[in-house]
This record gives sequence, C-alpha cells and structure tokens, in this order.
Amino acid sequence: MKQSHPIAHDLVLVGGGHTHVEVLRQFAMRRPDGIRLTLISRDIETPYSGMLPGYLAGHYRFEECHVDLSPLAMAAGARLYQSNAVGLDLSAGRVLCPDRPSVAFDTVSFDIGSTPARAAISGHEHALAIKPVHAFLDQWRRVEPGLLALGREVEIAIVGGGTGGVELALCLHHRIRTAFKAAQKSNRVNVHIITDKADILTTHSAAVRRRLHAALRRKNIRVHTGQTVDCIQQNAVHGLDGFRLGTDVTVIATHASAPGWLQDTGLALDDAGFIRVNNQLRSVSDPRVFAAGDIASFNPSLAKNGVYAVRQGPVLAQTLRTLPGPKPAEVFSPQKRTLALISTGDRNAIASYGPLAVQGAWVWRLKNWIDQRWMDKYRSLKMGSTSEMSAMRCGGCGAKVPADLLGQVLSEFQTDEDDDILIGLRASDDAAVTRPPPGKVAVQTVDHFRTFMDDPYLLGRVAATHALSDVYAMGADPSTALALVTLPFAKEAVLAEDLRQLLHGAQETLRAAEVRLVGGHTGEGQELAFGLSVTGYADEDKLMKKSGLHAGDVLILTKPLGTGALLAGWMQGRVRHDDLKPAIQSMLISNRQAARILVAHGVSTCTDVTGFGLLGHLGEIVTASNAHAVIDPHCIPILPGAAALLRDGVKSTLHPGNIDAAGRYMKADTDLANADILFDPQTSGGLLGAIPSASADKVIDALRLNGAHHAAAIGRVTEGESGRISLERL
Ligand SMILES: Cc1cc2nc3c(=O)[nH]c(=O)nc-3n(C[C@H](O)[C@H](O)[C@H](O)COP(=O)(O)OP(=O)(O)OC[C@H]3O[C@@H](n4cnc5c(N)ncnc54)[C@H](O)[C@@H]3O)c2cc1C
Repeated sequence: MKQSHPIAHDLVLVGGGHTHVEVLRQFAMRRPDGIRLTLISRDIETPYSGMLPGYLAGHYRFEECHVDLSPLAMAAGARLYQSNAVGLDLSAGRVLCPDRPSVAFDTVSFDIGSTPARAAISGHEHALAIKPVHAFLDQWRRVEPGLLALGREVEIAIVGGGTGGVELALCLHHRIRTAFKAAQKSNRVNVHIITDKADILTTHSAAVRRRLHAALRRKNIRVHTGQTVDCIQQNAVHGLDGFRLGTDVTVIATHASAPGWLQDTGLALDDAGFIRVNNQLRSVSDPRVFAAGDIASFNPSLAKNGVYAVRQGPVLAQTLRTLPGPKPAEVFSPQKRTLALISTGDRNAIASYGPLAVQGAWVWRLKNWIDQRWMDKYRSLKMGSTSEMSAMRCGGCGAKVPADLLGQVLSEFQTDEDDDILIGLRASDDAAVTRPPPGKVAVQTVDHFRTFMDDPYLLGRVAATHALSDVYAMGADPSTALALVTLPFAKEAVLAEDLRQLLHGAQETLRAAEVRLVGGHTGEGQELAFGLSVTGYADEDKLMKKSGLHAGDVLILTKPLGTGALLAGWMQGRVRHDDLKPAIQSMLISNRQAARILVAHGVSTCTDVTGFGLLGHLGEIVTASNAHAVIDPHCIPILPGAAALLRDGVKSTLHPGNIDAAGRYMKADTDLANADILFDPQTSGGLLGAIPSASADKVIDALRLNGAHHAAAIGRVTEGESGRISLERL
C-alpha cells in the first residue's frame, strides 16, 4: 500500500513571462495538493524587462538580468517543456506545439508577452525586432562586430518612439560609443528614432518628454516624428511620404502585437488580437483559460509594460493555487499611475510619475536597487518539499492502471505489425507472440529508468534510444519491444495523458528504428518510471561479444562522455537548461548507424557505454578478452560543462560505486586523480568498439559523417597485463 495525493488537476502555464515566474515562485514556496504544474516556454531564460536596457548598455551580465526558469520550475515541482505553443484546441483541452505531442490541460494560463507590430512594414525581415528578446540578442551579437569594424560613422535606426524604442536608442548608443572608445576609435554613432506620432513617449508627461529630448540631444540622437515607416531595406528605411534614411542596422520597437495563431483558438480577443480577460485574469469566453502580462487585454485597456505583468503575478498565483475552486478568485486592480524609471543609457535615469519628472544618477541607483530586489526573489530558490501524501492507493494486481484507459491510449498509436507478429498490440492477449526469422538467434535486453527528466515525451525518446543500444552493441537488429511504465498517482485523465506523452516519445524512436512495440505493463507509483525490454535478432557467428579484443586494435568511442555529471548538476539546479541541451541531443542519437559502420569495418568487439562508465564497460571487455588496453584521457570527447562539474564534485550517485569497482580492472598504481570523467555513468551513451588500426581513421570519418560528430580514437589494445587497463598519453 502506498499513499499519495493523486494528481487531480492539470495546470499548464504557457510562457515564462513576468507573471508566471511569480506563480512558479509561489508554488515553490508552498505546493498545492493535487495540482500538477507544467510550464511550456519557448525560452528558458526570461529577460527581466526593467534591466534589459541596462543589459544592452553593457551595465549587466546576461545572468544578472535573466530569470532561469529551469531551477524555478524544479523548485515549484513543475515539468518544464521547452517548446513554442502554436495553437489551442479548446474542445479537446490541449495546447498545440509543433515539435512535441500536444499537452492536455484542465486549466491553462498564457503569459507569452508580445512582439513589435511589423506586418504593415514590407521588408521587415531586413530589420531586427526587439522581441523576442533572445532572437534580438542573437541577431545583435552577429551584427555588432560588423558595425564596430566599419571605418566610418555608424547609422542605427530605431522604428518606434515609445518607452522601449527610446530606451533602446539611448542604450545602444551608449554601448557602441563605449566599444569604440575602448578600441580607441573616434567613429561617430548616429542613432535615429522614427515615430509616426507627433512626439516620442506620448503616454508620459511633457516634463518627462522635455528631459528625454535633452538626453537625446546630448547624444546627437535624432527624432523623426510623423513618419510612418512602410518599407525597410538592407541599408535604408522608407516612410510613406518619401522619407528615406540610410542605415547600417534597423531595429523595430513598434507597439505590441499578439501572435496570429490566437485568432484560430476561438477565444475572445480584442481588436489587436490579445486575449480578453476580466479582472480575475480569466478569459471572458472560457473560464479554463487565464492570461496575464502583455498578452492579456483588459477593459479599460492597460499599457503593455512589465510593471503590470509583475503586479499580476501574486493575483494569478493565488487564484491558480486554489484550482479547481471553489474559493473566489483574486482580483487584479491596476494602480491608476505607475512609476516608470526610464534609463538614459549612462547609469542615469528619469523617473516618471503622473506629471512629475525627476532625473539623476540616484534615480538609476534606485532603479537598480528595485530591479535587483526583484531578480533576487527568483534566484537560488530552494526545492520545495514534496507535498504530503494522503489518499490511500492500492498497489496490488501489479498496481495496474485501468484497462479501458490503457486501451484508449494504445488505440491512438499506429502499430506496424508484420506477419512475424502473431499477437501484438493489435490483437492483445496474455503475452505477445512473435516468429523469429529462420536461422537467427534472439538477442534480448531490458532497461528501466526512474524519471530523470521532467518531460515524459523526452523521457520516452531517451529511454528507447538507450534500450535499443544494447541490441546494436551486440551486432543485432532490434525487432520488437515491451514497455514497462510506472505512472505517478493521478486521476484517470492525467494517467492517460502521461502515458500518451511517454509512449509517443518511445514510439517515435522505436518506429525510426523499425522496432514494433508489442506489449508491456503499466502501473502506478510515486514517480514516473519507464523501461523497455527489446528483442533483436542476429546471425550467431556475427554477434559482437565482449571477448574479441586483439592486440593492435584501436578503441573508438562514438559519443562524448558527461551525461551523468550534467544530469546530476541539473537535478541540483547547478546546470542551466540551455547547457543541458548538448547532453540531451547526444542521448537522442541512435547507435544504429554507428554499429553498422563498426561492423562494416571489422569491429572485433563492442559494447555500449552506460551506467558503469567508460572504464567499467571497458573493464568488462578486457576481462572477457584477456587483453590489456591503454586509454589516453586527453583523447576522450567530453560534453561541454561536464568536466567543470566533476571538478566541483558534482557527480552522479553511481559514480562512487564505479570508482570502487576500478580495482578489479585498472592496472595497479594507476593515477586516477584526473580520471573522473572515465567513471561518469552514461545514459544512452555511445558505443565503444575495437577496430583494426588500419581502418581506424576511415571509421572515425564515417562515424562523424553519420551523426556521431564527436567520435574519437581514445586508446589501443596492447601487449600487457591481461584483464587490465592503464591510462597513458598515446
Ligand atoms: C527595450 C524595452 C525595454 C522595456 N523596458 C521596460 C521597463 O523598464 N519596464 C517595464 O515595465 N516594461 C518595459 N518594457 C516592456 C516589457 O518588456 C513587457 O511589457 C514585458 O516584458 C511583458 O511581460 P510578459 O510577462 O507579458 O511577457 P515576457 O516577459 O515577454 O515573457 C514572455 C514569455 O513567453 C515565452 N513565449 C512567448 N511566446 C511563446 C509561445 N508561443 N509558447 C511558449 N512560450 C512563449 C517567452 O519565451 C517568454 O518566456 C520594455 C520593452 C522593451 C522592448
């Protein structure tokens, strides 16, 4: 018998904007029972709008002004799916994403910001748009060196004369001037602000405008008013009335616009396409939908700024944590006046409050203090304690999930059952029945993981890639698979959804490998777990056993090491989500092609590198082959960030056990001081193959051409003490 709060309500947050980070923080401080939180966000680092101008001016480092959603989601117990929502199916209750299965919700909340309106400007692709900020920063990094290398004046045009456009002009001016000064160049930087209005900052008082005009004049930033930009070319901006300005780079910072796909959702939208909400931040047309920040539209309308998005955070968090009700929802009442602190680029700022305007370095210091305090709230959040478990769940009957639910989910998957599958998923029975190809031997393996990723779809893909590896490493072709699933206690709809996501991921990988899922077992438990038992077939005389090493063979590793340290670091909140990406990509690379290449070039023995680490698995080979191998630690391909983590003592829990086992196969007196990476347990690691030395270069070229971009020769089989490994520079 086990106890748990079953998941009763699926709350999906789309976008990690200023409001949702507060929802995550409040869930991290106290997790509501029964609500499962999923965050879908296109970007994992949310730029804090208040500090963005300061970042562009060069006053802040990237991490000082970006909230890393990954540790925040982890602390909140939220699953983080990095994806770009592109649609909403209200009738099915699902958020649509282009690169993963759609995500089911009971309640969905949008905080996806806005982008500058560009549709009316032809050739806008020749310009940079200030939002999405990540895309802008990427493009700016590419453009900036060219600007700095120009042997003449630099011309920058900003289209848009609102607060964002004006701050941008001042900050980019400061940035480029500072860079020229540092390079002892005297090039002028001519920044232009182009607005279709009669003045800049029309939502602020005349006093504020006067101060900003003065600040702009001091920097020779020209303001072109009453100019509607309708066309942008590579090196020029054109207006409706024959206006033309030559530019080296143009940035669009016009008024906010909403993504077009919202039009197809059936939600009530305002004229500009933003989601209409009431003062509870709830869609006026669908009570399951909430919206906050720029994407929300209120009546009367509010300015699109980060201040409101921030203020909506506590309100939304309070409402969402009481889902599905019945408590009355919190109400958002915007303050009549907001204090705006507008940066002038040079650690000076103007405070705007109603008719008042004050300016000075002290205003910038005040702004900096307020902004730092906001950022501090989202840094170094501790992992919340898992909610107390209460409802009693029976774990008998293998803790199976209901048959109807299973049948419903399985019926959604295409099954490619050929004549060799006598009984599979299509005609289910007590067990799967398959007919082996004549003359072949069966190669069978099983792998099982507790969840190490918060995205079940991704877990399914990685776990399937990992499970198939054993079969490839034996020189066999995988044919069929049985799935072993443990789903966290939840109501049926949630169980079905988890299973769907998991199997979708696994099936995608299995089908790409031409492997048929023929059965499995699904039960409930305290956490998600997934495994596959795979059966493959091979010619008996072509099996790649561990006993085939020959002296002179070159040892080739097909994938970089480091997944153990990186996953451990990520779970401890020490690895940023973006830095985990190379590890995820590596775990998703199938070893199928690599195995074929190794076989084609006369591999003498092969294994896949997994939980025992490189040396543990090589230890098995040298023992079985009675051979001696030398590994050159300098030749080992390593995933970015893994070595630094190991140096800092961040290791997988399996790591110490792998080191303890080293005595069995390492040559006595080997210095293991800097060999940590060689004991790092791998998830879905590469193949370690021994190849006749004459073919080694050809094999590495072929591997690199076929997806194993980091394949490398890492050692040799030499005459020496049999069953032992030594570490040497080769
Ligand atoms: C240069 C500049 C300076 C500014 N300075 C200030 C200022 O000083 N003070 C101020 O109050 N306001 C300022 N603003 C305005 C401010 O940036 C926005 O009002 C604010 O960012 C809106 O916050 P948000 O929470 O709505 O969305 P955002 O903070 O923009 O967050 C949106 C989130 O949603 C994600 N996302 C977007 N689309 C999708 C999708 N389809 N699927 C999944 N995820 C998605 C993004 O990755 C991001 O995580 C400035 C704007 C600019 C351009």
